[in-house]
Amino acid sequence: MLELLQYDFMQRALIAALLVGVAAPMVGIFLVQRRLALIGDGMGHVALAGVAVGVVTGQQPVFTALALAVAAAVLIELVRARGRTSGDVALAVMFYGGIAVGIVLLSRAGSETPANLDSFLFGAITTTSPTDVRVFAVLAAVILLVTWIMRPRLFAVAGDEEYARATGMNVLAVNLTLAILTAVTVVVSMRVVGLLLISALMIVPNAASQLLTRSFASALRLAVLIGVLCSVGGVVVSYHAETPSGGTIVVLTVLVFVLASFATWAVARVRAARHAESSHHAHEHRPGCGHRAVPHGDHVDYLHDGERHAAHADHWDRHDEPAPTARRES
Ligand SMILES: [Zn+2]
Ligand SMILES: [Zn+2]
Ligand SMILES: [Zn+2]
Repeated sequence: MLELLQYDFMQRALIAALLVGVAAPMVGIFLVQRRLALIGDGMGHVALAGVAVGVVTGQQPVFTALALAVAAAVLIELVRARGRTSGDVALAVMFYGGIAVGIVLLSRAGSETPANLDSFLFGAITTTSPTDVRVFAVLAAVILLVTWIMRPRLFAVAGDEEYARATGMNVLAVNLTLAILTAVTVVVSMRVVGLLLISALMIVPNAASQLLTRSFASALRLAVLIGVLCSVGGVVVSYHAETPSGGTIVVLTVLVFVLASFATWAVARVRAARHAESSHHAHEHRPGCGHRAVPHGDHVDYLHDGERHAAHADHWDRHDEPAPTARRES
């Protein structure tokens, strides 16, 4: 590990991996909550067209990719705001249009350009330039800051969009912010993870952490930890194994997910005999559902019919006897 740090390009790659490992799961958790797992992938395709524009016109690909991805993010969010079906179609057009334009433009660029399509699609640690690292660091700082500041609003909209709108929140502005954050994260990640695989680093660590935790805050912390370990670890492994960094990183995250699934299954088997399942649960509790939320250890219980209910796998458990003063809520 230490001898890797002698090389300038490895120092840059590891810094970039660290930035990506923190930013991608942090933005991704809101995409998972909103069931928008594929949006990041679509933006990756559009960013490829942006890279091609940069290569053909002799601009820095990172800036042209950023411009195109952000434009696509705004466009798709505006289309989505007008109805679900057209949002699906817009996403499909974005996927195919992005990759088609990218391939056509890159083929026109000729063989004398340094452009290597694979390095953008699947990540290539050795191609991270000093300019890339400086730009990525600034963008990553912006992503982290904006996500942190907007966290309550992003979470409110992710939990219940209608309720958030009813409270007078500007839901479109929050959605636009999330879309732009996603676009920027995709571009920051393209050297390390690659445009085709970046969505995996946004989604899979969150999928794993949500298996292992109950509260939003602890899920986010664990997802960022998984993201950093897998992305820095993936860069190190890919250097030794001479594999593309993106694929290596994503394989690691998938392994973590498989292990987390197995651990959850094993724990559930052990606990199966030991807990009281709440009898009636058609209702799904969530922030703003009308039931009082009570923090309980690492998760949140909801007061409902005089019992405390907590989500557990695919059902709701009864946790504590209610406090004597608790109102009946149903
Ligand atoms: Zn509880
Ligand atoms: Zn309940
Ligand atoms: Zn249970």
